[in-house]
Amino acid sequence: MRRQALIVGGGIAGLCAAISLRLTGWDVQVFEQAPEITEIGAGLQISPNGVKILEHIGVMESLKSVLFEPEAIEIRMGVSGRPILYLPMKGPAAERWGARYIQVHRADLITALSARLDALQHGAVQTGCPVLSYAPCKDGAEVILSNGQRVQADLVIGADGIHSNLRYQMLGPDAPRFTGNYAWRALVPAAQLGDLAPPPSGCIWAGPKKHAVTTYVRGGTVVNFVGIIEQSTWREESWSRTGDRQEALADFEGWAPPVSKILQRAEVLHKWALFDRAPLPKWQDGHVVLLGDAAHPMLPSMAQGAVQSLEDAYHLARTLGAAEGPAIAAACSQHYAERIARTSRVQRASAQNLHLFHKSGRLAQLMAYAPIWLAGQLAPALVRKRNDWLYGAPVPPLNS
Ligand SMILES: Cc1cc2nc3c(=O)[nH]c(=O)nc-3n(C[C@H](O)[C@H](O)[C@H](O)COP(=O)(O)OP(=O)(O)OC[C@H]3O[C@@H](n4cnc5c(N)ncnc54)[C@H](O)[C@@H]3O)c2cc1C
Repeated sequence: MRRQALIVGGGIAGLCAAISLRLTGWDVQVFEQAPEITEIGAGLQISPNGVKILEHIGVMESLKSVLFEPEAIEIRMGVSGRPILYLPMKGPAAERWGARYIQVHRADLITALSARLDALQHGAVQTGCPVLSYAPCKDGAEVILSNGQRVQADLVIGADGIHSNLRYQMLGPDAPRFTGNYAWRALVPAAQLGDLAPPPSGCIWAGPKKHAVTTYVRGGTVVNFVGIIEQSTWREESWSRTGDRQEALADFEGWAPPVSKILQRAEVLHKWALFDRAPLPKWQDGHVVLLGDAAHPMLPSMAQGAVQSLEDAYHLARTLGAAEGPAIAAACSQHYAERIARTSRVQRASAQNLHLFHKSGRLAQLMAYAPIWLAGQLAPALVRKRNDWLYGAPVPPLNS
């Protein structure tokens, strides 16, 4: 008999876990609270450590026509547009880290993951199905659905995002931490921006107490914008909350023309407060384990939240291997022991990057950015080397 896994949440972590487990011999069932698996518009950067996983689980092929491969990762001064760092990626990323650095629309990634899962196990996702809690049971665990139904399995995975019900039950009621930042998000067809379209890179525009990131999705036809502003009061978190254009323009007043042009042209500007959480003392309770944002939500300034969710899901499936019965709980604690240092480091690095991009005052900017500029000019290989631990992590095949 196949082992059974129940996965709470049909986001990137949950779908990748379902695919990876299915590929290693499990029957899977995903419970998603939303009435359908959809994602509102936003772009994601997927670094080579994530792309390697998407290759192994058979998802890259269907992303081929919709992804964008940036020429470089760059940092510029937000107001003047002056370059601080230009690190070529197209070519060098695959050479150094074993896979490309890509940008993709979140909806396209979710669609590709869902299609792959459906091909492996038709009907594995049950939508409109919120999970309230879990309970231990003999040699496994069960979930309790909002209609009162209880479903048992060998393994329960909480991939239910930053406000995870399963995390709440496992670790108590502390809320995620407001980081003192909100984000503007927008998508604009590149053709509407003409000469003021941002460079074909992952471009960080740095400025005092704020920064912006421009990327491309949908094969390079659409520009994705994220603008992050430090402030201490506004704390609303909703993918569908829209903001006021004048407010967004005021936030980036006087910034380089590509930034203001995007804000002028965006049909919808989403506004979203940013939360994270300190590393958790555990992700596991018997046969129940947390993945992705449920386990380690982070600031987006390393572009790693989704990538670390892919890593979690894949690593868990590999660690479980052929485990059965009590060995499943042991594999889940091994998974935590092997992953926690890395995800905590990424969480810390994300917070540090935010401070780096938000330097205020000429002296502070000079002291922070001049060494980066110099390193980029004199020793780009050294700059790349600094990312080896993250992008270059080996990703062995699932069944090896
Ligand atoms: C502005 C911004 C930019 C970002 N850019 C990047 C980037 O470039 N690269 C990158 O790697 N990451 C990026 N991220 C981070 C990334 O979006 C998240 O880390 C990632 O989406 C987490 O995936 P997840 O599956 O863990 O959680 P989620 O995407 O939150 O999915 C959780 C799912 O669980 C469902 N759910 C919740 N509760 C229940 C329940 N009780 N029962 C059933 N279902 C439930 C939800 O409906 C949802 O579908 C960014 C984040 C932000 C805010």
